[in-house]
Amino acid sequence: MHFDTKAVHAGVEPDPSTGAIMTPIFQTSTYVQKSPGDHQGFEYARSQNPTRSALQKSIAMLENANYGLVFGSGVAAIDAVVKLLKPGDEVISGNDLYGGTYRIFTKIFEGFGIKFHFVDMNDAAGVEQYVNENTKLIWLETPTNPMMSIIDIKAISAISKKHSLLLGVDNTFASPVLQSPMELGADIVMHSVTKYLGGHSDVVMGAIAVNDESLYKRLAFIQNSCGAVPGPQDCFLVLRGIKTLHLRMERHCENGEKVARFLAQHPEVDKVYWPGFESHPNHEIAKEQMKGFGGMISFTFHEDDMQRSFKVMEKFKLFALAESLGGVESMANHPATMTHGAIPKEERMKVGLLDSLIRLSVGIENADDLIADLEQAIG
Ligand SMILES: *Cc1c(COP(=O)(O)O)cnc(C)c1O
Repeated sequence: MHFDTKAVHAGVEPDPSTGAIMTPIFQTSTYVQKSPGDHQGFEYARSQNPTRSALQKSIAMLENANYGLVFGSGVAAIDAVVKLLKPGDEVISGNDLYGGTYRIFTKIFEGFGIKFHFVDMNDAAGVEQYVNENTKLIWLETPTNPMMSIIDIKAISAISKKHSLLLGVDNTFASPVLQSPMELGADIVMHSVTKYLGGHSDVVMGAIAVNDESLYKRLAFIQNSCGAVPGPQDCFLVLRGIKTLHLRMERHCENGEKVARFLAQHPEVDKVYWPGFESHPNHEIAKEQMKGFGGMISFTFHEDDMQRSFKVMEKFKLFALAESLGGVESMANHPATMTHGAIPKEERMKVGLLDSLIRLSVGIENADDLIADLEQAIG
């Protein structure tokens, strides 16, 4: 089945009791049993909820995976993955990643005796040097946030397979429309559903997709035991959002390209980070593993000064100055003080995350209006 058809139909069956075409919002905490143990597969809503089950099935299908699990947020999904590990285990993680991921790794799980190595995932041979007998998991994001590097998932999965490690890929920036990590060798695909999957800036949620049954069972056990499950209303909103995911991504890509090309020719702008440029260092990998270059763009000014960027961001009329991304509306973010504020400056500088860098999530408005807004704000 083609992706577009899956987006509209996956996971959703007419409701057996009424024929309702959309899976209802099962706003209930528990289910009545006829006799102890005699029930219809639903006991308690932390463990099972039909609205959630439909969404989990849908996300699994979009990711070409056998199983899906959803969580109360993206970081709750990451939390569940790390809980597969035990004290003494080691993780090799990309060094250019979402600030909240860095925070949960270093500020929460290092305290439980798990060791994290933050390395440059562009260098697959370099990654292998960190593998030892305690290594259990490789974790990467691509495109990376906010530098828009493209990591070669196949090359990293060759290392994870050689050493029998789990490979987890945060697929939030690409969305399942543009990139299918399962096909490239990932064991776990993770999403901040808050972003493109939800798509309308009205839900906070996370998801995991896996193929292996025993891995699924361990993660489902963690989901139920630790309890970071989303409510049925949020699951319903995401089921609705997914139906237009492919159409939204098409426009995000189109607008992203127009905005990136506008910025690249602007005399005040220094660097533009967008994987669609032929001059982007990972352009060839992007072309191979992605179906489009997405709507996420970062850029800097010749004058690397926070105030220069603040002035631009204060002037935006259409771009909303906000954390988050992936919504229908365009957003601008200042990573150094907002999303990546938890990362020490010296770590930021290592990946080139300068003080003047602005990250754009290009929405699905008219591209000419977006470019006019950038033009008046940059001056
Ligand atoms: C937002 C985000 C997360 C965290 O997700 P939440 O839903 O905010 O908890 C993780 N990874 C990436 C790439 C993100 O953009």
